[in-house]
Amino acid sequence: MTPRELAPRESEIAVIGLARSGRAVATLLRKHGYKVYASDIASSPDTGLAAEQLRALSVAVDIGVHDLERIARSALVVTSPGVPPTAKPLAFAREKGIPVASEVEIALNFLEAPCVIATTGTNGKTTTTALIAHLLRGLDRNAVEAGNIGTPLSEIALRAQQPKRIWSEVSSFQLHDTPSLKPLVGVLTNLSPDHLDRYASVQEYYADKARLFANADGESAWVVNGDDKTVMQMVSDVAGHKYTFSLVEESDAFLDSRSGELVLLGAPLISRKDLPLLGAHNVANALAASLAVAAADREHQTPKSRKGIAKALETFRSLPHRLELVGEFHGVQWINDSKATNISSAAVAIDGMERPTVLLLGGRHKGEAYTALAEPIRGKVKRVIAYGEAASIIARDLRPIVDVLRLGADFNEVMQAARAAAKPGDAVLLSPACSSYDMFANYEDRGERFRALATQEA
Ligand code: ADP
Repeated sequence: MTPRELAPRESEIAVIGLARSGRAVATLLRKHGYKVYASDIASSPDTGLAAEQLRALSVAVDIGVHDLERIARSALVVTSPGVPPTAKPLAFAREKGIPVASEVEIALNFLEAPCVIATTGTNGKTTTTALIAHLLRGLDRNAVEAGNIGTPLSEIALRAQQPKRIWSEVSSFQLHDTPSLKPLVGVLTNLSPDHLDRYASVQEYYADKARLFANADGESAWVVNGDDKTVMQMVSDVAGHKYTFSLVEESDAFLDSRSGELVLLGAPLISRKDLPLLGAHNVANALAASLAVAAADREHQTPKSRKGIAKALETFRSLPHRLELVGEFHGVQWINDSKATNISSAAVAIDGMERPTVLLLGGRHKGEAYTALAEPIRGKVKRVIAYGEAASIIARDLRPIVDVLRLGADFNEVMQAARAAAKPGDAVLLSPACSSYDMFANYEDRGERFRALATQEA
C-alpha cells in the first residue's frame, strides 16, 4: 500500500512529546521526507538524548518548552500516547483548527501490513494485549505488542523487515486521534466510569471508546464482554461479526461453572485451575484474548492451534503492578496492584482477596465516589489506610463501613501503618483506585516503592 500524503512537503509537522513513541514517529516522518518540529515540556537527560538524536536527523527540537507560534504554523500535530489531550500544545492546536493525529495513526500509514488487533476498554487492556501476544507466540506467530506497552508502532514501521501481523493495544486517548484504524479484530474488555478528571462526562469518555468501531463494516470481527450491559449497548448497531465472552453464561467463550473449564467456540479449552492468574477478572481477560486470537485467523481454530492456545495460557504470568504477589513475609502477603488506578479495577482486586486485608487506598482523586468500593470491602478488608490528596474524600466515603486510618503524603508512614495493622495470615493490598501523580512519577514508581518497602524489613 502506498502511504498517503500527510501534509504539504513545504510545511512542517509538529510532534508533541519526546518519549519513545514521539522519538520514533519524528524519525519515521523525517525518513519519509517531511519537515519535523518536535518538542517536549520536560527537560531531562532522556529528552536531552532524544533531542540530540533527532537533531542529527535534521529535526528541529525544543525541550523544556513548546513553541506555540511554530506549532500554530504547522500543517499537522502528532501526539504521543503519554500526552494528555488537555496538554497545552494539543488544546492550542485544536483551538487553531490544526489537524491532530496520534502516533499510531501516522504509523499505520507507513506499515506494510497493518493488521491490528486493537484492545480497548476501561480495565484489562494491557493484560489482554499481553495475553494475546503470548498466545500468538505460542502459535509460533510473529507477534509484537505495540501501542501503550512494548514497542511503538512507529518503531515497527521503521524496521526493514516488518512482521506479518501487528498486535496492538490502543487506549481511548489514542483512539481519539486515530480515525483510520480498522482493526482485523477489535476487543472491548469492559466499560465503567474513569478519567472523569479529564473528560467532561462519562458519555464523552465512552464516546472515545466507541471510536474503535468507527470503520466497522460487514467484514469486521469484534470480541466483546457479554456480561457488560454498557458494552453490549454500545455494539448493538455496529456492523460485523460480534463474538462474546462471559463469566456467567454460555457464549462464544465462557467459564463453565459446572465443569470449571474455559470453553472456546463450543469446546473445552483449559481448566480454570490451570490458569495461573488471580481473580475472576483475569479469567475474563483470558477468555477475551483466546477469542480474539481464534477470531483473527481460521487457522487458529484447528485442534492443534487450540492445544497451542491452551498451553500458552498455562504459562502466562501476571504482569508487574497488577495483582502481583511481591512476597510473603512473617505470614503477611504483600500484593502490588499499583496499576489499579480507578474504582472498578480496585473493586475486582479486593473482590479476589482470600485473606483479611489491609487496603492501601489513595493518591490523586479522579472524580468517582469511593462508596462504590463498599460492597467488596465488606467482610474482606479489616482496615483501610487512606493517604495522599484523596485521603479525606476516601475517609468520608468509607468510614461508615470500615475502619479507616487517614494519613498524609508520606509513603514510608503508610507502609509502617500497614505493617502495624497486618497480622500473620493477613494480606496488605496496594490497589489505590487513584492516580499516582500527587506523590510519585507514575504507577510503576508507586509499585516499585511498595515493593522496596515491603521487602526492606522482611
Ligand atoms: P489497563 O491496561 O486497561 O489499565 P491492566 O491489564 O493494566 O488494564 O489492569 C489494570 C488493573 O485493572 C489491574 O491491576 C486489575 O486490578 C484491573 N483489571 C484487569 N483486568 C480487569 C478486568 N477484565 N475487569 C476489571 N478490572 C480489571
